Amino acid sequence: MELFDLHCDTLVTYQQMKADFLCDATMFSLRNQEKLTRMCQTMAIFVPDEVRGKAAEEYFDQNSAYLKSLIKKQPHLAAQAFSGEDVERITGEGKCALILSAESGACLGGRLERVEELYEAGVRFLGLVWNGENELGSGHSNEKRGLTEFGRRVIRQMEQLSMIVDVSHLNDRGFDQVCEVGERPFIATHSNLRSVAGHMRNLTEDQFQEIVRRGGLVGINLCRRFLSDEGVGDEEDIFRHVYRMLELGGENVIACGSDFDGTDVFSTLDRPEKFAAVSEYLVKRGIRQEDVKKMFFENALKFVKREL
Ligand SMILES: [Zn+2]
Repeated sequence: MELFDLHCDTLVTYQQMKADFLCDATMFSLRNQEKLTRMCQTMAIFVPDEVRGKAAEEYFDQNSAYLKSLIKKQPHLAAQAFSGEDVERITGEGKCALILSAESGACLGGRLERVEELYEAGVRFLGLVWNGENELGSGHSNEKRGLTEFGRRVIRQMEQLSMIVDVSHLNDRGFDQVCEVGERPFIATHSNLRSVAGHMRNLTEDQFQEIVRRGGLVGINLCRRFLSDEGVGDEEDIFRHVYRMLELGGENVIACGSDFDGTDVFSTLDRPEKFAAVSEYLVKRGIRQEDVKKMFFENALKFVKREL
């Protein structure tokens, strides 16, 4: 089983608990890494909406430094990837490749030059907003407010550096504006389909197809409420989203965005190594083996090799 996960919130938990990659209290861990033949995990630095300005910059720096200290402590387990080639090399050595991302552009502290500093730290995906409002735009707490002028400048700067825009959490107005401003493919690291589960955090079918047209990625989120209106969120619900995404032409776009340690996940899905059974389930339900492999690893690898 090969796994490329576009989003988890574990790093902040590790930092708060002073825990490491072998921690047994988190959903994501490398305790059972040998069960996966290749693994690439995106480690998001989640910035709460109330942390702003200089404090948000410091919060980011502290968590980014913590990741580097963990890799230094357990170099046999993981290494940081800055490019698609890095992901191939590190996973080929039997280690977990870690891509750093940031969840909420609040960590820019309102400074455009900070985009490059984040890039230097290894951030390759940046979620422009979280649920609330920040200097760049707004999440679903305010559907009327779109991107700010600063948000547009950040997107242009990111594209110059090959840092990828992550539209998960962005409200619909912001999504449309990213389509106007952005010229490079963008991704939704952890969002499902609103037509299958009606939560606003999921993408409309038009939004999904726009990402397909642009050659981006959409990571299936395991959050129970984003997988099903009833809040079950099991393998069958994953199947329903994947099936519809394939109908919408998403075979090269579907990926995995677990949201481990950031949300409520069904008990059969709450560890990386449990994806092997999910893979089998999807094949049993009639999804082609080839598409399942693409979804769990190959689409994301191809994307980062092309875009980073
Ligand atoms: Zn999130």
